[in-house]
Amino acid sequence: MAEQPEGVDMIYLDYNATAPLRPEALDATFAALGSVGNASSMHHAGRDAATRVDLARRQLAALLNCSAGEIIFTSGATEANNLALRAAYARGGVLVTTAVEHPAVLEVARAITDGTPDALVILPVDGDGVVDLAKLDEALEKTGERGAALVSVMLANNETGVLTDLQPVIRAAHAAGAMVHTDATQYVGRLPLDLDELDVDLLSLSAHKFGGPQGVGALFVRRGISLPYHPLLIGGGQERGWRAGTLNVAGIVGLGAAAEAARLKMQDEAARITALRGELEADLLARVPGCRINGSNASRLPGVISVTFPGVPADAVLAAMPEVAASDGSACASGAPSPSHVLLAMGRSREEADSTVRFSLGYATTYRDIERGMEAVVDAVAKIRSVMATDAEP
Ligand code: PMP
Repeated sequence: MAEQPEGVDMIYLDYNATAPLRPEALDATFAALGSVGNASSMHHAGRDAATRVDLARRQLAALLNCSAGEIIFTSGATEANNLALRAAYARGGVLVTTAVEHPAVLEVARAITDGTPDALVILPVDGDGVVDLAKLDEALEKTGERGAALVSVMLANNETGVLTDLQPVIRAAHAAGAMVHTDATQYVGRLPLDLDELDVDLLSLSAHKFGGPQGVGALFVRRGISLPYHPLLIGGGQERGWRAGTLNVAGIVGLGAAAEAARLKMQDEAARITALRGELEADLLARVPGCRINGSNASRLPGVISVTFPGVPADAVLAAMPEVAASDGSACASGAPSPSHVLLAMGRSREEADSTVRFSLGYATTYRDIERGMEAVVDAVAKIRSVMATDAEP
């Protein structure tokens, strides 16, 4: 990523990589950092820390409409996904997931099935990134005697924002005796979620995607499900044995405060962000000839635009507008030279994938950000196209 030029205000359009800390989360985290207790200690300072953690657990539970006892705090969604997949796969059976999952699911699934024949089924998606449910039914029928251990399908894609309608996935999976896990990292705190209605067994999230601190997240484990005990970290038995290690009290408190703020503001924010995205998208289509929006026929998160500028490399676009923070493909995979597996799974060519920029808007994005961002993108693409045209001249 190019360096930020001095004296230029950054236009931050990369909420899917990380959202700025919400002021409520900053205040709460800061205050908790000053508290020295270990939440496992019985003395006053320890009880104080434990009380703060309890509040955060209840704040997150309120956002998800689940009970506080169903939440295990982790270091983020990567750990939550690892925990969920490893524990569920230990039941025995087949792991079913999709071609567009984040590497924190897809690579874990590959690692734990480790080439075992027929142990892993990766479902395809259509040109809009929507999971092929007919293939899920087929996969569940074919698991035979082994049965399906787990179906893991993300709620919202990090690169395109494309949403999955999980109800039919849950119905089919449960009918086949499989558990359902969802990586809801990009969804939580951005659109309403009700775990009383959405009958997933396991759900992962990360605080920094909805305005909490980085390095803290959670796994929801539905009460009453039968999972072989399979912690990744063994030690002091914290989080009911699911996740040993001294709790990250300040991080958890920040997560709770962000969850509370998101619960109260999410609906208004989603409407406002959807309108901003609509403006940006309409402007892009009108002013950058030939650009295409990925997943445009699917339901998407309010703030995400994945746009392909055919023939114009995404890294050149980003370098030509250093004042704009956006992402080529997935920021989590940045540094990796391979093209986006999500866009390839949607049928895009390698060149198209390499010419795709992701803009992601969030709770603090303003109309002015969109206006300035738009001007920067239009200029960047025009400049690159004119240089390319000059270079191509005989
Ligand atoms: N899943 C998805 C869909 C994500 O977008 C991310 C972060 N980019 C993760 C999992 C991993 O989250 P973390 O890095 O916070 O563990």
